[in-house]
Formats: sequence, structure tokens, C-alpha cells
Amino acid sequence: MDAGSPADLALFGGRPLFAQARATGQLANRDPERFFTLASGAFERRWLTNQGPLVQELEERLSRLHGTAHCIAFANACFALMLALRSVAKPGARKVILPSLTFRGLPHLIRWAGLEPDYCDVDPVRHTLAPGSLAERIGPDTAAVLAVDNVNALCDIDEIERIAAAAGVPVLLDCVYGVGGSHGAQPVGTRGLASVFSLHATKLINGFEGGYLTTDDEALAQDLRRQRNFGFAEDGTVRQVGLNAKLNELHAALALSNLPHLDSIMADNLRRFDAYRTGFAGIPWVSFADYSRSPGNYCLVLLEILPEAPYSRDELVRILRAENALVRPYYSPPLHRADALFRPADAPMAELPVSDRLSGRFIQMPVGDTMSTDDIAGLARLFALLDRHAPTLVDHLRSQAR
Ligand SMILES: *Cc1c(COP(=O)(O)O)cnc(C)c1O
Repeated sequence: MDAGSPADLALFGGRPLFAQARATGQLANRDPERFFTLASGAFERRWLTNQGPLVQELEERLSRLHGTAHCIAFANACFALMLALRSVAKPGARKVILPSLTFRGLPHLIRWAGLEPDYCDVDPVRHTLAPGSLAERIGPDTAAVLAVDNVNALCDIDEIERIAAAAGVPVLLDCVYGVGGSHGAQPVGTRGLASVFSLHATKLINGFEGGYLTTDDEALAQDLRRQRNFGFAEDGTVRQVGLNAKLNELHAALALSNLPHLDSIMADNLRRFDAYRTGFAGIPWVSFADYSRSPGNYCLVLLEILPEAPYSRDELVRILRAENALVRPYYSPPLHRADALFRPADAPMAELPVSDRLSGRFIQMPVGDTMSTDDIAGLARLFALLDRHAPTLVDHLRSQAR
């Protein structure tokens, strides 16, 4: 795209705005020297995995960060969630309640844990599990509630815990997007039976791949440490089913090198978010998700396309991707419509109007360390062009699509 005319749009053959792709993940690498030093140490010790000193140090630092008695590192957050679900599920019950507007991987983990996803609607402002929908849906066949924090708001854990406790159902938290937040005086990671976080390269603390779980429950922590390593107990006997879900030393090294920079990573995210807000202020048909209850990490920028926009959300996604801004539709489709594999064949599809509406409206914009404030200004100029030439461009787009 070169500022001037519609024909400059990359979708219509112009030069893309970004020569190199811009991502929607964090990809933080704040101290490469520290990473290489730590990695060399692991090679010198010939201790590359199996709960080496770097994984141990990472677990200690993370349990201090969250203020919990235990932190257990895993190969990724998915293993942590799957194994924790197996541990806490109410015996005899089959269903795990989760919000429909969330990460598409979650139903897989629920199935691996031998359970079934049961979708609830979300709060229109927070985009997290709606307590009213939970109260309607929870019942004798509910094995667990999997509540998810979102980047714009933490879930309403007080209400969720109250409803779950009244039904005798355990609560697990997916806090991947809750890092940095707190519920009153309680930091994220301390509520529910356990909280799960990711160290994936696209998330806040980059460890290539990895995840961890925080809990104050001693028995649960022990159970998960065993499940993570083929059920081995301290004395070498196997008393339960497990698998290999261990984090390795190199991944721990990268996470350890980035962890001290968490505050600056979050501050940079906020700076970028403010640049988006300022840059897009003149476009009358866009807005941003409500971040007034945000945990403060701003690791995703959710641009809302208002109903009066001349373009559909999906048209804008096509335009932006052609410019090498690798945006994506946010949580679309919602899980209750996403994958037939995870829908009970014997039950009608749930009516979840808020999830349906929100999943059609937002774009996850490029963020993280590949994105400068100049890049954001470039996107703002693109949107100004899209606004100015809307009728012509919409014509062009729709005749191309035919
Ligand atoms: C990325 C993500 C996960 C999974 O994390 P991995 O470490 O990649 O397994 C879980 N929940 C949410 C909300 C996520 O965004």
C-alpha cells in the first residue's frame, strides 16, 4: 500500500504495507545473551531435561510471582489443563463447562481427559464465562468448570466460584491471558483449585513452548508432578497413569531470560495499544474491546468492527492479510459452532447469542515485538484510506469476489 489510491491496496496487486509479516503474538526475546548463557550451562551439565536446575528455578520464580505454594512446569499449557482436568473432575460426572468464546484447543483437552465440553455463553463486556449462563447449565453431570481469563478482562471468579461451590463442582482457571492481573488483593494464579499459564512463543512469557500450573493444593500438586512423568512416585514406583509432559531445560532457559522483563513487555504492549487507540480515533466505524477491567498485559489488541462499517469484518481481515499484517478473526466461529466433532450428536446446539455476536465483530491486530509504533501508524493510514474510498473499494472487493 502506498498512501494514495485504492489500486495501491495489496489485495488489488499493490505492494504490501509490510515487506516482512507482522504477527499477532508476542515473540519476546528480551535478553538473548542470558538465554545463550543459561543454555550453555545446561549443555555443560549434560542435564537437558528431566526436572533440571533451570526448570526448578523457573518453577520457584513463577510460584513467587503468583504467590502460590506450588508451581508445576509442563511441556505446554495444554498438558497442564488436560492432566489437571483428569485430577479434579468430579467422579461419575462427564461434562466440563467452558465459555463458547475462547481458545479453540480447549475442547480437545477436555476430550483427552475423557470428558465432554459443555458450552456456556459469555458476558458481553468481559467476553468471559457469564455467571447467569453457568448457573443455568451446571448440574449433576458437570465434572468441572473451566473458566478462562481474557485479555480485556479477568473472568468473574467470585460469582463463578460461588455458583460452582453451591453445585459441588471444582473450578479450574485458564489464566493464559490473565497474567499481571489480580482479583482485589489476590493475584491471578491464586483462585480456583488451580490456574494454568502458557509459555508459548506467542504468549507473554516466551519459552518457545511450555506451560505451568499454580496451586496451593498440596495433594493436587503431587498428583500432577507424578502424572507429568509417567506416574513415577519419589520412590520410583508407579501408582497412577501418566505420560511425558515435562518441560525441558532449553525452554526453561528462554522463559527465565524473558521473565525479568515481564513488566517492560507489558509496558510496551500498553504503548502499542495506545498507539492503536490514537491512530484509529478518526475512523468512525471501529472501536476497541472494553479493556477497563484488563489484567494490564495488553498482549492482544482487539479491534471491533461496528455494524455500520462499510466493510464486513472478514473483508477487512482479507485486506489486512494481503498487506502482510497477519491478523485473524477473534475467536471465530464460537466453539459451540466450530467443530462438529465436539458437539453431542444427541443434543440441539445451544443458543449462545452473545458468543455468536462477539465472534463476528473483532479482529486480533498485530502486536508484540515485531510491531513498532510506526507500523501501527501505517495501519492507521491504511484504515483512513479504506474509510475515504469506501464505496469504490467495497464495489471492487465484491465484484472480485463474484
Ligand atoms: C494458547 C492458549 C492455550 C494453550 O497454550 P499452549 O501452551 O500452547 O498449550 C490455552 N488457553 C488459551 C486461552 C490460550 O490462548
